[in-house]
Amino acid sequence: MKLRLAHLAYPVTALGPGRRLALWVAGCPLSCRGCITPHLWNPEAGREVAVDKVLKRISVLDLALDGITLSGGEPFVQAAALTQLLEGLATLRPNWNVLIFSGYPHATLTKRGRDAIALLARTDVLVAGVFDQQRPAVHPLAGSANQTVHYLSARGQTLRSVIESTPLNQFDIGLGSDDQQFLIGVIDTTKRQSLHQALGNDHTAKEPLK
Ligand code: SF4
Repeated sequence: MKLRLAHLAYPVTALGPGRRLALWVAGCPLSCRGCITPHLWNPEAGREVAVDKVLKRISVLDLALDGITLSGGEPFVQAAALTQLLEGLATLRPNWNVLIFSGYPHATLTKRGRDAIALLARTDVLVAGVFDQQRPAVHPLAGSANQTVHYLSARGQTLRSVIESTPLNQFDIGLGSDDQQFLIGVIDTTKRQSLHQALGNDHTAKEPLK
């Protein structure tokens, strides 16, 4: 099975508890106003890669990580491939927890069919709902106040207190293949602009990845 992969980064600390592998898929049909990753709306963005190949790459990472974060784009558009990835990871890295950012509300995902249900079954923590730029974040992992955070599994429940005690606006700095620095994290507009300024970035060219 193949995945439309946009970015892979590690270790990431701003998108969930501990040190994580973060994977962004390409393609999102939701078009939220104020979305910080519109370059990932296009389902043809990024590159197509076999799930087995991603697993192989993860298997040779010489790095202690605590979990994986799936974002995009919209992960549930590629639910079947991501489920296969998480099935492989359950064997390869059984201690990793799984956190997913989705633009769909949880209730919608539960009615999206078999593939979405299978992906939810592999998810410990889900951040759900469209991004609403008029409603500033009140949770460290939700970009806007309307989004909801669901601790779906027993393992997810154990992460609640550490997640909810994390300060807002955590970020990491990545280095792209074009040698440009980019921001990773759930970061409000003011903080984002000041970080871009500090990095000397043209913030209209390089937005953070959540
Ligand atoms: S769901 Fe996420 S990626 Fe999709 S448009 Fe909304 S904010 Fe952007």
